[in-house]
Amino acid sequence: MLDQFGHASILVLGSGTSVGVPMVGCKCKVCHSDDPRDRRLRPSVLLKLDDKRILIDSGPDFRYQALRFGIERLDAILYTHAHADHILGLDDVRPFNFMQRQNIPIYASAETLGAIEKTFAYVFQEAPTESSRPRLSPHIFNTDPFCAAGVSITPIRLSHGSTITHGFRFGDCAYLTDHSEIPPESLDRLHDLDVLFLDALRHNPHPTHSTVEQSLLTVEKLKPRRAFFTHVSHDLMHSTLEARMPPAVHVAYDGLEIPIGVRAAVA
Ligand SMILES: [Zn+2]
Ligand SMILES: [Zn+2]
Ligand SMILES: [Zn+2]
Repeated sequence: MLDQFGHASILVLGSGTSVGVPMVGCKCKVCHSDDPRDRRLRPSVLLKLDDKRILIDSGPDFRYQALRFGIERLDAILYTHAHADHILGLDDVRPFNFMQRQNIPIYASAETLGAIEKTFAYVFQEAPTESSRPRLSPHIFNTDPFCAAGVSITPIRLSHGSTITHGFRFGDCAYLTDHSEIPPESLDRLHDLDVLFLDALRHNPHPTHSTVEQSLLTVEKLKPRRAFFTHVSHDLMHSTLEARMPPAVHVAYDGLEIPIGVRAAVA
């Protein structure tokens, strides 16, 4: 049995590539643009489902994003993969431990969790410590849908160059950041979408990321009602790119919030 959330939306906390936009020291016109949509923090989104808050990736800008967008609780974190631009804000979940007085459940593939445990070895050490550290309840997902904070999440396996990342589908919305290819079995999980987020780094080919042109082909193939491009580099000016997109395709920007249809899994 399924129950519709009264309020369901996805909030873009960061729409930029790994170095962020502006890039430190860069003199290009996008890095010096006055358009706030050209200021892109590291990639992350927040699912807001009634009073539940599910974070996808805790990048290096997580603390600032939480302050900027008034995040007051965290019910789960889903990890796409363990690259630095997606995990390095993990230490900043501590205030949510203090406020909620409980561990934060995190969900990742075995490979991603292993890499997070290596990067944040102090977090996962058994030995007691005098300083505070994030308190987490790790969960490993494989190919099957899993439940996080009462929501059914379908993992979408993606190629990111020679490594594997995961996108996530919840209801009729899917978020696919860092990928160079979507394998056929994953395309099968992406039909009948209302909202589809896609990696679209730049125009020039990149070994580990989808380009604007490749993501437009994905949109043609999957035909979501609306598509939003993210993980955008300083090669792309928001206004110029947005003007060239077909009507159903938009360039995401930090602070963009989109209503979505997600149902709660009822036991
Ligand atoms: Zn990335
Ligand atoms: Zn630049
Ligand atoms: Zn990556």
